[in-house]
Amino acid sequence: MNLSYWEQNTFFNNIDVAIIGSGIVGLNAALNLKKKNKNLKIIILERGILPMGASSKNAGFACFGSPSELLDDLKANSEEEVFSLVEKRWNGLIRLRKNLGDKAIDFHNWGGYEVFDSKKSFSECNSMLDYLNKQTGKIIGKRAVYKNADDSIKKFGFKNVKHMINNTAEAQIDTGKMISALIAKVRNLGVEIINGYEVTEINETHKGVIIHSSSGINITCNRLIIATNGFAKQFLPNYSVAPARAQVLITHPIKELKLKGTFHYNSGYYYFRNIGNRVLFGGGRNLDFVTEETTAFGLTQLVQNKLEELLKTMILPNTKHTIDMRWSGIMGVGPSKKSIVQCVSKNVFCAVRMGGMGVAIGSLVGEEVAQLVEESL
Ligand SMILES: Cc1cc2nc3c(=O)[nH]c(=O)nc-3n(C[C@H](O)[C@H](O)[C@H](O)COP(=O)(O)OP(=O)(O)OC[C@H]3O[C@@H](n4cnc5c(N)ncnc54)[C@H](O)[C@@H]3O)c2cc1C
Repeated sequence: MNLSYWEQNTFFNNIDVAIIGSGIVGLNAALNLKKKNKNLKIIILERGILPMGASSKNAGFACFGSPSELLDDLKANSEEEVFSLVEKRWNGLIRLRKNLGDKAIDFHNWGGYEVFDSKKSFSECNSMLDYLNKQTGKIIGKRAVYKNADDSIKKFGFKNVKHMINNTAEAQIDTGKMISALIAKVRNLGVEIINGYEVTEINETHKGVIIHSSSGINITCNRLIIATNGFAKQFLPNYSVAPARAQVLITHPIKELKLKGTFHYNSGYYYFRNIGNRVLFGGGRNLDFVTEETTAFGLTQLVQNKLEELLKTMILPNTKHTIDMRWSGIMGVGPSKKSIVQCVSKNVFCAVRMGGMGVAIGSLVGEEVAQLVEESL
């Protein structure tokens, strides 16, 4: 494709920083760089018509760890590592709210719950609640972050649920509003987001980084940030980031829906919440990890059937409901929950591997990679 002089000159010449990926991380990297350096010419290259990874497809849990998740993490990591990640998630959520405003992202602190169908797993968590409250209390500034919520099981209308623990500091957001507000904010600062631009190859030369695309329009930039998360292997083949597909469904509106808040079940492998008077329900990756380790969007009968079954038998047992929509998103995961934010080569940087926590940590991770780039300029 031949660009006009105007197109070339306005959009693609003299790029200081190019960012691949317009998810929450790429957008926050641009936001922070531009806020501090007004004259930088920054461009975000996104292959989708919208962000096409996880940032506009997630469940919108503003969460920092359920009891079983934290206890699981403590089995493989030090106390310091586990609670510094909790702190990062908590501070990341504060940053997200500060950047965009609670109203713009529809932030509601309706609480989160861990739901148990087995007495054994509940007892393990329950016996550690004082410890978890002490650790998280220091970060969140609340005495009892977690508390027993067995009283609410009936109120929410669940079946086969034996116990619940309430996370009083967990909240929910509207993912669509969040990403839309973030895009608007970044564009307002003068950052160009080029949609439909698929990067196929990057080459670092003495003149800068050359970006090749499927459109044939190539770009040269001084610095490049790779913020492609679950798709990172394309440019970072030796990094430990694997794709992990997550499938979800949402019901049609339900009259007098009883549940309200965000819910984690089966060590976080399943999660559900209300969105107004609908239920969003996702998870089931553990049914077939191999198939779900893919960058291809899609749905499987295995996972969707399980989600429907749990809806019928546990979450909405006595309520008529029908499914309105189903979709999937691609996360970036690895052997550690820590994200990778680093300099890849002289002028190339990356911020990838957000796991299932990008809503919480994405704002800070974007800020961290922006800082690295700024220091290199
Ligand atoms: C179903 C689901 C539910 C989730 N629920 C939650 C939750 O409740 N709370 C929470 O904290 N986190 C949740 N997450 C995780 C969270 O959404 C992610 O961690 C976060 O969105 C990652 O943001 P990102 O910017 O790193 O990546 P992404 O949002 O995936 O952005 C990467 C972008 O790079 C683009 N890209 C890739 N390759 C190229 C290329 N070659 N050229 C151009 N562009 C390219 C993609 O199109 C994509 O838009 C969930 C994820 C999913 C899928």
